[in-house]
Amino acid sequence: MSYIEQSYQKAFTTLQKKFTKRGMEVYYCATKEDAKNQVLSLIPEGASVTWGGSESMVEAGVRDAVCSGNYTVIDRKSASNPAEARELYGRIVCADYFLTSTNAFTKDGELVNIDGASNRVACIAHGPANVIVLASMDKMCTSVDDAVKRVRTLAAPPNALRVGADTPCAQTGICGDCVSPDCICCQILVTRFSRVPGRIKVVFCAEKLGF
Ligand code: SF4
Repeated sequence: MSYIEQSYQKAFTTLQKKFTKRGMEVYYCATKEDAKNQVLSLIPEGASVTWGGSESMVEAGVRDAVCSGNYTVIDRKSASNPAEARELYGRIVCADYFLTSTNAFTKDGELVNIDGASNRVACIAHGPANVIVLASMDKMCTSVDDAVKRVRTLAAPPNALRVGADTPCAQTGICGDCVSPDCICCQILVTRFSRVPGRIKVVFCAEKLGF
């Protein structure tokens, strides 16, 4: 086992206590494959499942597994017009399971997410009965401030490219602290406590996922 993996395992012992104290369930997986299986094991067959934009869920193969599994899949991208999108969003907020990654998390057990359209942060905060968060361990930060800096420096620029946003970071690779129409940093959500015990389940993965 590499020194990084050993370090992650030790860190998880602390993270487990911090997140549990904040009402969240946590799991630790060494590989993407284990993480995928862990996520799937948390979702009962027949459940309605939806997601926010998450490169981590795609890379781990969760998205494909859910789409080909025995679930009621609600895909917001399947809407063909604004009215349909609105109707779908109504179903999304009432879904059994919402799958997402987190842009960053702190060593004290807080999730930090920054969003443009903000459907993702909205569903993390409230709505779906369960939220499963897939987080690679390299997203650990020392504080909320550090997490926001990480997202604006390392996550948002490639994300802006991924979604085709016309933002300064997409053009230069560096955050320009924009308020442009395509800004993907409209809302910052710090999840510091889940009042519904276990509603948020965080699956940590030692292998790098997403941005
Ligand atoms: S340039 Fe705008 S969209 Fe890009 S990281 Fe900065 S605030 Fe976010």
